[in-house]
Amino acid sequence: MRKSAEELFGPAGTPKVIVIGAGLGGIAAGVKLKKAGVETFVIYERSASVGGTWWDNQYPGCEVDVGSYLYSYSFKQRFPWTRTHATQPELLRYIEEVVDDHGLRDHIQLGRAVESAAWDEERHIYRVALANGQVEECNVLISAVGFLNTPRYPDWPGLEQFEGPKFHTFRWEHEHDLAGKLVAIVGTGSTATQIVPVIAPVVDHLYVFQREPGWIIPKGDHDYTQDQLDRFRGAVARRRERIRLFTWLEMANFRRAIHRPGTKVNANLENICRGFIDSELADRPDLREAVTPSYPFPGKRPIFNQTYFGALKRDNVTLIPRAVARVTPHGIVDAAGVERQVDVLVLATGFQPTNYLASVEVTGRNGRSLHDEWNGEPEGFLGMTVPCFPNFYILYGPNTNGGEIISFLEHQSSYAVRAIRRMRREGVTAIEVRPAVFRAYNRWIQRSMKGTAWVVSNNYYKAKTGKIVTQWPYGALFYMFLTNISGRLSSTARRASGSSRPVGVAVPASAA
Ligand code: NAP
Repeated sequence: MRKSAEELFGPAGTPKVIVIGAGLGGIAAGVKLKKAGVETFVIYERSASVGGTWWDNQYPGCEVDVGSYLYSYSFKQRFPWTRTHATQPELLRYIEEVVDDHGLRDHIQLGRAVESAAWDEERHIYRVALANGQVEECNVLISAVGFLNTPRYPDWPGLEQFEGPKFHTFRWEHEHDLAGKLVAIVGTGSTATQIVPVIAPVVDHLYVFQREPGWIIPKGDHDYTQDQLDRFRGAVARRRERIRLFTWLEMANFRRAIHRPGTKVNANLENICRGFIDSELADRPDLREAVTPSYPFPGKRPIFNQTYFGALKRDNVTLIPRAVARVTPHGIVDAAGVERQVDVLVLATGFQPTNYLASVEVTGRNGRSLHDEWNGEPEGFLGMTVPCFPNFYILYGPNTNGGEIISFLEHQSSYAVRAIRRMRREGVTAIEVRPAVFRAYNRWIQRSMKGTAWVVSNNYYKAKTGKIVTQWPYGALFYMFLTNISGRLSSTARRASGSSRPVGVAVPASAA
């Protein structure tokens, strides 16, 4: 006889869910779970605060490069953004407000790092181990650990012997006063280009080490005028702004045009970047040459920045268009063998995006870990699900980077929540993607990479094998369409032979 939801999942009649991470993804998942009437969930966050990337990255000048009214949840549009592009402190305030608005505090446990999760095929539960020795059980596991969460530290000879402060932008050490110091920043990606204009006026001298330049699109960021602030108090103006930003992105992504050299959209954007270099650096042919990429647009992740080129022209800033060869106790030696004395070393060397779920080992029903299954080439169905890993959903997983990220996180959360509602409704305890669908989808997504500038450029999108494992080449609407139609079609559902009631999950007492 079919068991009731209460018999299967406990008195609340809803599956127990563990969400890993309280960044924008984990919080979206929490809100969607609550809206679906699922209170039996806990969100574990390894940091001391919510916010994910916006808590981790607190470097000077940190702000988003998507318009504020688009880089926000569809369910929380009302927020008094002060700028076209929100700053990191403002984003943290926004995230805290969402947590409070939706009563998520009780569900979030801070300072709790999830280390591993293993599927129990008899009971259809995940056994989840935390760094503090705690072990919990759940029916459904949602990874919301994010994409750019594992810093990439260089392995230059001598780095450890450097005697001054040295730190990665992911963990900015605010206790070091940079005033009057000789500072080196290595890397010229989105992060470094935000930092350089802010610290250049303070330091004695700033050395910017560039290995390969990125294409820079003028960002057009500014504080909102009083008139704009007044206007955005109205829901209609906010909605209009959101639609305007969204439409621009969708059109640029239509038929992958923005990423494919030879299309009008791609050529226009490359011309805008070239024009920006020419106008900003008209009087500095040396810099013009050094910052002009030799690969087709966009190649790497494009940089949105208005003030970086201006900062490079300052007398106290030197761009060194060479890689770092080694570090000495008091300086940096570039690839040409020139050493420069440095007091503080800032590593703006980015992250390990292709190393998905680097900090969590998930084991599936065949006893193999996800990393072994992937074997260096992460893939998922819609970036979210993997055969042999039932009831496991990855937010911001493989090949989902590149679109409008907040809407992706919302669609992915909704996808997982729909499956959870199905478990409750149909009394099933394991939902798993069909291997044939998974394989066909991943063949298709790889075919979609053909003709993009990514293939012929150096970027962080490629696994060591050269396969592009991070990018979604289309728009958000197409992704939403696929996530909306495919859940049931792509998966199989089963019931456990043993009891599937998890024990010891630290959900709020009211929901247990
Ligand atoms: P990144 O884009 O990966 O840039 C890292 C930089 O470090 C690159 O210039 C890279 O050079 C250089 N580098 C790496 N290893 C090096 C080494 N061993 N020696 C010398 N140079 C080295 O990292 P990021 O700037 O931190 O940005 C990461 C991503 O975060 C961005 O792409 C964006 O998605 C996101 N982000 C967003 C915002 C925003 O929304 N406002 C702001 C910051 C970051 P090569 O190019 O030659 O590899």
